[in-house]
Amino acid sequence: MKQDIKSFNQKELEEFFVSLGEKPFRARQVYQWMHVKQAASFAEMTNISKALQEKLSQTCELTVLRQQLVQRSRDGTAKYLFALADGNMIESVRMKYKHGNSVCISSQAGCRMGCRFCASALGGLARNLTPAEMLDQIYRIQADIGERVSHVVVMGTGEPLDNYDNLLKFLELLTDEQGLHISQRNITVSTCGIVPNMRRLAEEKLQITLAVSLHASSQQKRLELMPVANKYEIEELLEACREYFAKTGRRITFEYSLVGGVNDKTEDAVQLAALIKNMNCHVNLIPVNPIEERDYVQSGKRAVAEFKEKLEKYGITVTVRREMGRDIDGACGQLRRRQIL
Ligand code: SAH
Repeated sequence: MKQDIKSFNQKELEEFFVSLGEKPFRARQVYQWMHVKQAASFAEMTNISKALQEKLSQTCELTVLRQQLVQRSRDGTAKYLFALADGNMIESVRMKYKHGNSVCISSQAGCRMGCRFCASALGGLARNLTPAEMLDQIYRIQADIGERVSHVVVMGTGEPLDNYDNLLKFLELLTDEQGLHISQRNITVSTCGIVPNMRRLAEEKLQITLAVSLHASSQQKRLELMPVANKYEIEELLEACREYFAKTGRRITFEYSLVGGVNDKTEDAVQLAALIKNMNCHVNLIPVNPIEERDYVQSGKRAVAEFKEKLEKYGITVTVRREMGRDIDGACGQLRRRQIL
């Protein structure tokens, strides 16, 4: 089997080169081609001999995603559909902010968490993405826009903590000084709440932001929206969040998708405030993106504003997710879904 050379860290790459009978400094050159210059082929690596290029193409796979489709919005948001080597499709999004370019990446092809309102849950999990496949979403977008990407959110298709080892390797490579060198503080990983892996992540003591998809103010309501709640109860989840803050000093972001008539009433806000008011956290309200296959509807503007005010009364900091790329929208994951049906 060919080696997944772009998922190696520098040390592993050097060891691999030594095993090929090559000098370690060659590995450093190739590492730079892959992760800084973002070369799309071995042939582009011009300070590497033709013979070594040939040897590498015979023994290694250089992961490069194929851009299948891009939808560009007037506000700078763009949705990319990429094809993986085996034909699976994934979606990534570029968002343009005053503070820089942010890219939202997928961590799996599909997802097995089954959240009721989510388009990515409908087809189930195809497979995990490799570290290189996660990285290359950022590299291809950077090459496409000709600008540096400064922020990364792992909030696309898939559950990152269901692909834990690859996620960690990806974070190591993404933040590496010899690579793209994105600051840990500019990275957010979003989870539906896989408690044991949240605990493992806390032990890594990274400075990334952990976003937790809560979406409900009680165990019973959460169960209606998120099957993962069967496995990990809300209290256990909140305990893991407190632990994450204690170990890393990083404030948790709770994501709460407002679904009209389901979780957007005043009493939901009051209950939610009671659950989290003593925690170092922040709430991000997301008006749900309706998907065709389900009959969930977005909360009205007034309901969103009232929900926000209620939480703020209890001293909780709240932001409402700005809707970007409205003109190219469709719910998260729908571009991919349309392509594979
Ligand atoms: N599996 C991870 C990350 C991917 S989903 C997680 O669950 O956090 C990223 C965020 O989008 C999650 O908060 C998810 O619940 C939310 N989301 C998914 N589908 C949505 C939809 N149709 N409308 C609004 N938010 C949605």
